[in-house]
Amino acid sequence: MGAVDARYDPRELEERWQRTWEEEGLYAADPEPGRPTFVDAHPPPNVTGELHMGHALQLALGDTIVRLKRMQGFHTLFQPGYDHAGISTQSAVEKQLEREGTSRQELGREAFERRVWAWLEEYGGKIMHQFRRMGASLDYRRERFTMDEAYVRAVMAFFVHLYRKGWIYRANRIINWCPFHQTSLSDLELDDVEVDDTLWTIRYPLADGSGSIAIATVRPATIPADVAVAVHPDDERYRSLVGKEAVVPFVERRVPIIADARVEREFGTGVLKITPGHDPTDFEIGRAHGLPEPMVIGLDARMNDTVPELAGLTQAEAAQRILDWCRERGQLEREERHRHSAPVCERCESRIEPLISPQWWCSMAELKRPAIRALEERRVVFHPESQHRFALRSLEDAPDWCISRQIWWGHQLPIWYCPDGHLTVEESEPDACAECGSADLVRETDVLDTWFSSALWPFATLGWPDDTDDLRCFYPGHLQTTDRGIIRLWENRMIFAALELTGQAPFRDVIIHSTVLAADGRRMSKSLGTGVNPLETVDEYGADAMRFGLLKMSSAQDTRFAIAAVDQGRRLAIKLWNVARLIIGNAGDREPALRPRALEERWILSRIDAARAELEELLAAFDFAHAADLLYHLTFDDFCDWYAEAIKPRLYDRDEDACATALAALERLLKLLHPVIPHVTEEIWSQLPARETRLIVSPWPQAEPEHADAAGALQRLQDAAAVFRRSGVVAAQLSEDERRIFDAVVKPGRTAVDGDVDAERERLRKEIARAEGMLKNDRFVANAPHDVVEAEREKLARYRRELDVLGGVATGSS
Ligand SMILES: [Zn+2]
Ligand SMILES: [Zn+2]
Repeated sequence: MGAVDARYDPRELEERWQRTWEEEGLYAADPEPGRPTFVDAHPPPNVTGELHMGHALQLALGDTIVRLKRMQGFHTLFQPGYDHAGISTQSAVEKQLEREGTSRQELGREAFERRVWAWLEEYGGKIMHQFRRMGASLDYRRERFTMDEAYVRAVMAFFVHLYRKGWIYRANRIINWCPFHQTSLSDLELDDVEVDDTLWTIRYPLADGSGSIAIATVRPATIPADVAVAVHPDDERYRSLVGKEAVVPFVERRVPIIADARVEREFGTGVLKITPGHDPTDFEIGRAHGLPEPMVIGLDARMNDTVPELAGLTQAEAAQRILDWCRERGQLEREERHRHSAPVCERCESRIEPLISPQWWCSMAELKRPAIRALEERRVVFHPESQHRFALRSLEDAPDWCISRQIWWGHQLPIWYCPDGHLTVEESEPDACAECGSADLVRETDVLDTWFSSALWPFATLGWPDDTDDLRCFYPGHLQTTDRGIIRLWENRMIFAALELTGQAPFRDVIIHSTVLAADGRRMSKSLGTGVNPLETVDEYGADAMRFGLLKMSSAQDTRFAIAAVDQGRRLAIKLWNVARLIIGNAGDREPALRPRALEERWILSRIDAARAELEELLAAFDFAHAADLLYHLTFDDFCDWYAEAIKPRLYDRDEDACATALAALERLLKLLHPVIPHVTEEIWSQLPARETRLIVSPWPQAEPEHADAAGALQRLQDAAAVFRRSGVVAAQLSEDERRIFDAVVKPGRTAVDGDVDAERERLRKEIARAEGMLKNDRFVANAPHDVVEAEREKLARYRRELDVLGGVATGSS
């Protein structure tokens, strides 16, 4: 007791406290009716994932709020778990199979699924250890996985519910096909990349022999699937051709020339070949004009057997054949370089193949309506406000959701077919066809979009669809922290799924946090070599420093990773450590008690209380960067540089009241710092005398207005110190008490300077006159930026105070 180690070693103490908190059950949330709750269902990372900087930031923000709420007496649940990440996980296992010279097709579906589980045993689920290393106070006993039996049941119940409402349907539509992953993808799973292609201009003869029409295309391989030629209805150049027919090269098929306003007149020749089977816009035009939808490219992105002589060729080979054919007949007019953006699969970067394929869809028309209302009425609020508007707009615009994927790892759709083609939709496998009673049932092979299951995260993790104690206690929740990239994929879907299934919004506040970029502003990426591994930073600086740094960096915009902010966190922890050593080392086993006798003691108590109030406001507004700043200055400037220095002589004298009060003030400071830098604060707390509870569960400081009148008590002193540090002049106008603190803190005796009071007064008078002049200039006040004018006002006030402590009077005033 009464001693803090000389050296601050974050690694040892952080890992020790992470173990202790968890072993002592201090993260645990068990249902307790009647207590106010605070729940954050933390975003489930991919089960195959590793901690990256985005995760680290997300965790630091969520855990700061959760720790604050826990101390404020809320019954908190910080829910951990994993997402099964359909495509990523399947790809990882398929890569392993490939190395073994086999494939999932060779294994068959059931054996493949067993392989995935075995693979996850070995390689999956690493990130929870990394979450622990960040000090995240998740209730790890409650780890959930979207493929757990209970969770799967919730997913099936969701599907059956939607199906029975008539909102699930199957339709042939154009979809995004990844030829590598062999599955459909939603628009949100694509990246756009710049590609250099060749734009070919090809002449299509008119069927009546009256000439030809030139068409530009980057995809000659799709020519055999052309079903029309389209021009803009207002395009004078082609008006006379509408209604005629053109002959498609190579296949020599006659197709109509149609007019459609979707044609871009400025692109190429202003004439579009219409290939509904292989282009989303053409698909729309085709449906509007009742055109057929042939396809010439297969699921492997090669030519299918529609045109026998092209069957099995790659698209490039087929294009070559078709272009040769045109060249021989003089129909190839021109080729030019063409740079444009094209969609690729975000995971494997394969060029997306737009294909028509039968898929399962979820109608959004009804489903999204209550969610739109919830956002309009601000029952769910995204922060910052711009993201609230984005979330609302994207809900309003949400198209029907393609929920089927052609992969094996995931939740297989609960649809069974009998030989007569009847559909039976049940949560678990039925014995017989619901329509004809046939027992010969085959299950749909498609699985659900991964986001279909994660949409249930806030309540499926609590046992929904059963009516559980957990649900009754911890639902609905309160907070979500996430990246703006998944507002449409995840946040909005959780909101509409929750409103539909539980009748309640799943949470109230959604913090959309910064995207952390590399220090040079590039995207952080392993493959680019621009990533910073958060765990390496934690090892070097400590988890507390990392958490502080991330908070300090966070904003409503993208932010560049700044190691200086992490280092500031490290310096904060060391400064706190040293001041705690000073206080605890001298106070010994005394009980902390508030017995402020001196000016600086009442002053620090008022500063701490004011900081508490401001911190509560900043965190309620999710302004983490300013909260970090506030705590830094409170600790460094107020607590360490002024208060601790001022009381040092009395601490060394073992003054009873000063020691007891210092311990009490330190207790309050530790509480304010704990949500942001939990480990070092808990360690110091444990060294304080007579600790019965851990800091993590100790009560948040109450308001203490009784010292508020001391808030400005050190102002004159601080002004005098500023003057002294600048000019060597020691102000004569200090009271006895102020003089004592000045001598203790500023230590003028150590620096033998002898300033010229008159010269300093003269300097200040000039500065005051200058600032007054500026502020009297209406044009400056009206036109200069607000903060420039404010800064000038503050300077003027400070000069006047400084002149005052020097016993001078400002000439002329305003
Ligand atoms: Zn892919
Ligand atoms: Zn049947």
